[in-house]
Amino acid sequence: MNRIFSGIQPTGNLHLGNYLGAIRNWVALQHDYECIFCIVDLHALTQPQDPDELRAATREVTAAYIAAGIDPERCIIFNQSMVSAHAELAGWLNRMTQFKEKAPKQREMAGLGLYGYPVLMAADILLYKATHVPVGEDQKQHVELARDIAGAFNRRYERDFFPLPEPQIFGEATRVMSLRDGTKKMSKSDTSDYSRINMTDDAELIALKIRRAKTDPEPLPASIAALDARPEADNLVVIYAVLAGISREAALARFAGQNFSTFKEALSALSVEVLGRIGGEMRRLLADPGHIDAVLRRGAERAAAIAMPVLREVQDITGLLRP
Ligand code: ATP
Ligand code: MG
Repeated sequence: MNRIFSGIQPTGNLHLGNYLGAIRNWVALQHDYECIFCIVDLHALTQPQDPDELRAATREVTAAYIAAGIDPERCIIFNQSMVSAHAELAGWLNRMTQFKEKAPKQREMAGLGLYGYPVLMAADILLYKATHVPVGEDQKQHVELARDIAGAFNRRYERDFFPLPEPQIFGEATRVMSLRDGTKKMSKSDTSDYSRINMTDDAELIALKIRRAKTDPEPLPASIAALDARPEADNLVVIYAVLAGISREAALARFAGQNFSTFKEALSALSVEVLGRIGGEMRRLLADPGHIDAVLRRGAERAAAIAMPVLREVQDITGLLRP
């Protein structure tokens, strides 16, 4: 059986990178896999959070999933904190990653201040015995850690208990960059709102942000190779190509030799076309929070029905801490 688990943190404004690098791919994958899409609110707690804002952000991510085309009947959509097994399994794995064979990586992670987060993420994935994890490029190493932990568990207890989860990193927009700095990832947590296009931005704001996006004085080149040293230009070309459903080469063929002002107008129109529809649908869904909460509750029940037996089995296999 092939099962997908993936998630997004309710940490702020969902943006074009979240859409192109993650959500949009999930919409396509739901037909071929059993899918579990989580709003990973426990991950958001690594930063101080206002409860009302966290609840609002959780609903916003849920609305984005549904508005983008994820079917809450076909897939399981829920928020992490409603299934206590995530935190429990993370506790087990934390202890297990203290195995000798994990030591170097663990130290490396601790040095990055990332120790708790990737282990919790591994728990999220393993709790559902997920085989595939569709994510943006930045999450690749975390899925690989989940894979390492699964392997370490299987070896230690001499059985094929956890499938080794595989990262699925699709398409050309696996790492959408900031509009202000082509060497930095577009992020929810970037303090500048002008660094990203949010999924709920209206047409005017999208156009303004694209007009202000950092570029360089040269016109658009004719070849991909010429974009190598121009990260901001490259990023905008990638975004255009992916939104238009064409290759980067084809995008350049349309705009080679033209100024950024012309290209940016076309990019705005295209962004508004794609995001306008989804943003509108998000706003419609968010007007009825009761419906969103019902989706999350039902999702949590379905998720727990898979997760709890796996957690029990882990407890049985390890033979620890059960009466
Ligand atoms: P934060 O700044 O709070 O970490 P984020 O924008 O990185 O927010 P996450 O919730 O950490 O969002 O990640 C959700 C999903 O979106 C992950 O699969 C991640 O790989 C993907 N993703 C995030 N940013 C980008 C991006 N700039 N380009 C492509 N995919 C992205
Ligand atoms: Mg992130």
